[in-house]
Amino acid sequence: MGEMSVSTEVLVLGGGPGGYAAAFRAAQRGLDTTVVTDEADGLGGVCLLRGCIPSKALLEMTGRISLVRAASEAGIHFSEPEVDLGALQDWTDDVVDALVSGLDALAEGRGIRVLEGRGTFESPSRLRVEGAEVSVVDFEHAVIATGSRPVDLPDTPFGGPVWDSERALEMEEIPDTLLVVGAGYVGLEMGTVYARLGSAVTVVETMERILPMVDVELTAPLRSHLDELFDDIRLGSGVESLEGDEDGVEVVLDDGTRERFDAALVAVGRRPRTESLGLEPIGVELDGKGYIPVDETRRTGVDGVFAVGDVTGGKRLAHEAMREGKVAADVIAGEPAAFDARAVPAVVYTDPQIAWCGDLAEEDRSDGAEVDVARFPLRASGRARTMGAGAADGLVKLVTEVGSGRVLGAGFTGRHVESLVTEATLAMEMGATAEDLALTIHPHPTLSEGLGEAAEDILGLPTHFSSSDEAEEDR
Ligand code: FAD
Repeated sequence: MGEMSVSTEVLVLGGGPGGYAAAFRAAQRGLDTTVVTDEADGLGGVCLLRGCIPSKALLEMTGRISLVRAASEAGIHFSEPEVDLGALQDWTDDVVDALVSGLDALAEGRGIRVLEGRGTFESPSRLRVEGAEVSVVDFEHAVIATGSRPVDLPDTPFGGPVWDSERALEMEEIPDTLLVVGAGYVGLEMGTVYARLGSAVTVVETMERILPMVDVELTAPLRSHLDELFDDIRLGSGVESLEGDEDGVEVVLDDGTRERFDAALVAVGRRPRTESLGLEPIGVELDGKGYIPVDETRRTGVDGVFAVGDVTGGKRLAHEAMREGKVAADVIAGEPAAFDARAVPAVVYTDPQIAWCGDLAEEDRSDGAEVDVARFPLRASGRARTMGAGAADGLVKLVTEVGSGRVLGAGFTGRHVESLVTEATLAMEMGATAEDLALTIHPHPTLSEGLGEAAEDILGLPTHFSSSDEAEEDR
């Protein structure tokens, strides 16, 4: 029997957020669309199967342990929670499965062909697929959305007690002691989950601070919280060697310290999945770090071949990948589209959470702007006070351009601040000013009032709490 082939107008390689967003948009634009993804579980990619969703499910549920304990400050006492790890994992799997089924149904409803197999380009118009019934896809346009995978430490492959984030999400056991290598958001989020479930967590990070990419002021309340939650946080500390055996791991730090842990989660970054895709023969070049360079329409240097999501670098966040996927599909469909977002928000789901958009730097800014900065401490927020459990330790920070008052950045740290960053992102997208934010009525009592207060502060209006009050308090 000959090999089975299909012809399609749009081939999407990779079924993560970038890929499925591209496929849905292309199909909705009336283009015949085929997705090839090597996920046996279906669409969803790292985000849905091994990233955003399972990690947030675990953070949400284990967060209740902290909240239940903290309720005792208000006279409500619970006995210590009992954790059924299997049931927790089943529940997380159910959350993921429901969302995967939803994506599969959406793909089917849009008439998208989904082939589960591994794709390799043979030419700029042909993909070979391994593992699926169809082995050749001839296409007019391709969107590469193959994502990224965790980086391992030199000479220390993942396996056994040396975990990557995927293994950490499997929740097979709660080690008594867990080493987390890397104080980026994945390390701190997963460290938080395990510490809440009872592991003694030690974090090591080569940089001198946690979350090196985040405004330092926003990280300060989290640092204090993590100092209590974790056993130890060692900054400016690199791993010289890490070795796994049947009893756990032995780590040697660059200061010569040698220590044992039951397991180690290595969360030192991700690298693009560009190997074995057949990119070289079709002329798609990679940059020095292995990412696929693209222009704002998501075109690679090869006619008809686009790339979106983690495989192209950028912030490597799911919502960025989705927007890029939609842009690529729109461009293929002949629509005037480009990835020209003024702000890509980001959220760290620790407790407190950190969320931000734009540039929060006060000087030496990449845009060269001169800025006004206002801060609203959440201890002055009625809503934060009603939440208890340290919710009032947070901060709202607003950065606007001197003169125009345009919003150039905003950052939040506190409980549930994930939803606050959307208003600031919209403000940046619309070119809104401090005055627009100040004149927007924010519902009371909500944490969102903090943004309005910070905007009033920038305008020099008398506010409930201004930055000058804070200076007064500190004196
Ligand atoms: P992926 O999601 O990586 O999908 C790529 C897909 O392509 C995969 O299914 C892969 O198997 C498939 N593939 C690769 N090569 C081939 C091939 N040759 N043939 C066929 N298929 C192939 N981002 C957020 O925005 N918010 C969060 O809260 C968040 N939390 C995270 C938590 C963790 C633990 C991790 C690891 C990541 C998290 N991220 C988060 C990042 C987010 O998961 C990624 O930015 C996002 O998944 C990127 O989407 P993508 O479409 O580019 O690629």
